[in-house]
Amino acid sequence: VSTRPSALLAVALAASAALAGCGGSDPASEPTPVVPSTSAPASEPPSGGGPPPLDLPEVSADLAGDLQAVLDARARAVLTGDRAAFLDGVAPTPDLVTTEGGYFDNMVQLPLAEFSYRLLPASLVRTDNAYWGVVEVVVQLSPYDALPVRTVDRYRFAPGRAGGYRITSTRDLRWESENAPVQQPWDTEPIVVREGDGVLGVFDTADRRERAGIVASVERGILDVSARVPFAEWGSRAVVYALSDPRFLESFDDLPGGDPQALDGVAFTVPAGTDDNAIASTRIALSPDLLPLASARRVDPELDRLVRHELVHVALGEEDDVAPLWLGEGIAEWVSVQALPPQRREVPDRALAMATAGQLTTMPSDESFNDADASVHYALAWWVCEWLALTYGPDAPFTLLEAFNRSEPDADPREVIRASTPVTLDELARRGAELMAQAYAPEPEVTEPADPTETSTTAPGEEETTG
Ligand SMILES: [Zn+2]
Repeated sequence: VSTRPSALLAVALAASAALAGCGGSDPASEPTPVVPSTSAPASEPPSGGGPPPLDLPEVSADLAGDLQAVLDARARAVLTGDRAAFLDGVAPTPDLVTTEGGYFDNMVQLPLAEFSYRLLPASLVRTDNAYWGVVEVVVQLSPYDALPVRTVDRYRFAPGRAGGYRITSTRDLRWESENAPVQQPWDTEPIVVREGDGVLGVFDTADRRERAGIVASVERGILDVSARVPFAEWGSRAVVYALSDPRFLESFDDLPGGDPQALDGVAFTVPAGTDDNAIASTRIALSPDLLPLASARRVDPELDRLVRHELVHVALGEEDDVAPLWLGEGIAEWVSVQALPPQRREVPDRALAMATAGQLTTMPSDESFNDADASVHYALAWWVCEWLALTYGPDAPFTLLEAFNRSEPDADPREVIRASTPVTLDELARRGAELMAQAYAPEPEVTEPADPTETSTTAPGEEETTG
């Protein structure tokens, strides 16, 4: 799940250049700020009652510089936690004070290594006695983000009563939906942040117990996944959202399976917003349906397993970008169940029936992975990793992942598998399915009740059942 904000930024700049043309400035000229004049711009359409006479402050030769100073003061207020100074920079209308105060209250909860704004002077558009401008917002969460995250927003500035400019709007919903389609939760709603050991939890409606439960589950997951995944770049830390507000997940157009309501959790990348498409962070969003499990008195094994699955995606980071989907998902499933006793590792009935009937004869393509048979595909991918680990050692699934990383970007998965393992792709599927069928095969009927310790249920994955 990822977006491409560098392309979006280019779109934003193109769009604002066009708008600047409507506002009377020449988009073809060099990107100098629009210099305010004391008369209404000729190209403004006359309106019925007529706009109030323009009341711009002393014409400044450096409008962009003046507006940038407003933004710098705003960023400084966040970094120093100075709410009064922050609100000084916005127009004192009740609605704006409420929404902007809420935004300030969100931002000061975040561990900000960097927080800054950069006005794009060429984007300035004059409307009535105000200016709209595109602003690059830079946010880096410390120590969670490898790089600062650059996104664009559009603000309106108008002269304040005491001179100088104030921000009169940070909301241009239509522009935002076109230019910054994925917004972080702190941009859109009141959040509560709770930090644990290596985890930054972001919540909205979750109560204190639910927040603590999610953070504790992620802390346990980080310890487990760190010990099993041989990649260190993720630093054993993760940012986790558990939000009741569906807007964040709905804003992705490429969610696995397509339905945000049906997802238990998803790992998503946050692009740095640079030209090289670098990734600043891989984060996790958990379904709000998991919150009650998190507040239960006992540790919920299914919640922990789901959290481990998503943490594996964080730990893999970009390592699985060129591998087929089944390998990344298989590793996530396989790692996530290792902490469970074998008899608690469930596979869907349908997957087991198909494996037993010998119907799983190849691996699903990326296009079909999340189709109606997704649960079968996840189970098969997991058992292929079991087979790889059992046959070649516990690093084998990661070694295969690295083989894909070393391959050409468009390499045929069949060729990569053939070159890096003694089996073919289809053999891999059959071996994984066989191992699954074997591990969950019913115990042979016991005719006489023997020692009860001998009749305990099959432990899938144990040596004697997996051969
Ligand atoms: Zn997954």
